Amino acid sequence: MMQNQIIGLINPAIALLFAATFLLLWWRDRAARHVLAMGLGYFGTAIGFLAFHFDSTGDSTSSVLITHFGYSAGVCGTVWGVCRRAGVRVRVPIMAAIVVATAIALATGDVASNVNARIYASNTCYGILMALGAQILSRSGRTAAIDRVLLWIMILSAAQFFIRPFTTILYQGVVSGEVYRESVFYAVMVAMVAVVSLMMAMAMVAACIVDLMHKVRDDSSRDLLTGLYARKAFESRATDLIEQAHANGIVASAIVADIDYFKRVNDIWGHQAGDHAIATFGRLIARMVRDGDHAGRIGGEEFCVIVWQCDGAGATGLADRIRREMSCLPIEGLPSDIRLTASFGVAEMKPGEGYGKLFARADAALYRAKQAGRNCVMQDGGNAMPSGAIASIAAAHA
Ligand code: GH3
Ligand code: MG
Ligand code: MG
Repeated sequence: MMQNQIIGLINPAIALLFAATFLLLWWRDRAARHVLAMGLGYFGTAIGFLAFHFDSTGDSTSSVLITHFGYSAGVCGTVWGVCRRAGVRVRVPIMAAIVVATAIALATGDVASNVNARIYASNTCYGILMALGAQILSRSGRTAAIDRVLLWIMILSAAQFFIRPFTTILYQGVVSGEVYRESVFYAVMVAMVAVVSLMMAMAMVAACIVDLMHKVRDDSSRDLLTGLYARKAFESRATDLIEQAHANGIVASAIVADIDYFKRVNDIWGHQAGDHAIATFGRLIARMVRDGDHAGRIGGEEFCVIVWQCDGAGATGLADRIRREMSCLPIEGLPSDIRLTASFGVAEMKPGEGYGKLFARADAALYRAKQAGRNCVMQDGGNAMPSGAIASIAAAHA
């Protein structure tokens, strides 16, 4: 049937189009490997469609295997890409094992000689992979609209793979590959795959656009020197976080840090060396905090961290680890034997207290740390964390 020939070619064309779209998107941002995976996946799908379409009998082992590996690449690329984007990991060896086991079944024994058995085996394989992906994705904890849409399309897609062979074989009975291909059901099945894979691709393109918008907004709210959030963006998110903490009964703390005798760094070694010192301290803070914490540069050489799910004692410990690390770090533009130090103020949030008041208490503790001789950590309402009692080396140089 001529219509089926044409319908059969629509899918590979669409798959190739999406493969090109994702590869182009990835070319723009090579770090986005989930986009590359989607691109390669759709490329594999296109090859699968083509192998299936152009094999005249549909029964040759090589075309069955090419089709299978092509579709598998499509399903695995999609699963890996969608999960990776959401920050959850997929076990690739398990996916590969499922694909290879199915390939062996398709190429050998009873399954190979029976087209219905092949339809069951391959669809079950893709259904399991999609369901596995959906299950992993559901654990990402992401709740944005686009994340929910992607999850539902994955569930739909998995269900479609499980249901399809039953309807096909129920209505069709035992057929040869050639007869199956000429059937109305073949056309319906092809259309069904097209709709689901189209939905998945559109949702993923939408996800890429949403991600890009977030990235642009995020970049513009970051401080160029340290890569941390600049004051305005830091404060706005810090305010939200403290509200969230109160609402969920979570404890959070604030650390305020300020480099010691920094004016002298600028005076003695120049403004550029001062900039290097700020960048070094900022990167150190970024490295030492956890993913759920929120760090920002709130002034020239002043930083603040909202330490999530952490009481005052824990935050004081973290501040002291940063303090000790800082006092050992060499700084570009400074003589190799010179080290800088910083002072820290810590406060744990109190019931009903917003970010502003919490910050004020941490800042007051920082002031006491400066008074106490610098290079130490003071907790609001507590004692100083014992420092090495070494006065800043920059001070000694003055
Ligand atoms: P203290 O130990 O009490 O903190 O003394 P300090 O000299 O560090 O005093 P303060 O924190 O008030 O010094 C801030 C200085 O930081 C003032 C300003 O010259 C310098 N500064 C502010 N922003 C920048 C910047 O972006 N780059 C450089 N190089 N210096 C900056
Ligand atoms: Mg200072
Ligand atoms: Mg300062």
